Amino acid sequence: MYFIANWKMYGDLKSLNSMKKVIRFSKINIKKKFKIVYCPPYTLLDSFSKKINKTKIELGAQNCHFELYNGPYTGSISPTMIKKIGCKYVIIGHSENRLEGENDNLINKKIKSCSKCNLNIIFCIGESLSEKKKNMTRKVLKTQLLKGLSKIRFLNKILIAYEPVWSIGTGVIPKIKDLEKDIIFIKNILKNNFKIKNPKVLYGGSVNDKNVKNLASISSIDGFLVGGASQKAKKFIDIVKKTIN
Ligand code: PEP
Repeated sequence: MYFIANWKMYGDLKSLNSMKKVIRFSKINIKKKFKIVYCPPYTLLDSFSKKINKTKIELGAQNCHFELYNGPYTGSISPTMIKKIGCKYVIIGHSENRLEGENDNLINKKIKSCSKCNLNIIFCIGESLSEKKKNMTRKVLKTQLLKGLSKIRFLNKILIAYEPVWSIGTGVIPKIKDLEKDIIFIKNILKNNFKIKNPKVLYGGSVNDKNVKNLASISSIDGFLVGGASQKAKKFIDIVKKTIN
């Protein structure tokens, strides 16, 4: 099971103190089969990398530029740069970035260069509320997958995060039955269209310590991408505990 903490645009150096609890928890549970990945803002990547050095916790960035190395891209950071600072993971295609103008074509370019860089890519897909109301969920998911993963040579490091946009930060989660079917739908596309033998699909959207047990009852779920609830160490640890125990 994967537990990805997306801190979004929150956190400063002081927030790193809360990592002590998470590090302790991961040490006690070193033999259990789960992965914790923290994706703090860029400004904290270096300090985070030092803090979690030699622990079971891994580091990810929340986004990056499509240019593999360097270039005249003010305000951006490349896959090589985040890799060099200690990231093994990167979130690509988050709906909050799509809302700011990232389209499937740009996302595909980013995935291409991140996979060249051998980063694990947490590729976010999900339908908006109006698309859901129009019964377009599957069409949207399929299009995002086909376009985002088009002509990617190395697909073994892709994790899909299914995040219905209407569920992010709203406290509303999908019906378990619907989610189960949608995850299987996504896995079938990955198997049939991309020949990925053992696809990994995570769920994201308002996951918390109260609803995670129910969500984790879906056997095809491979983990969670957690936003708001990941900013408090205790809540995040509770999410992990309730899933693995
Ligand atoms: C997210 O940021 O990907 C997310 C799922 O946020 P939240 O858990 O706050 O809904």
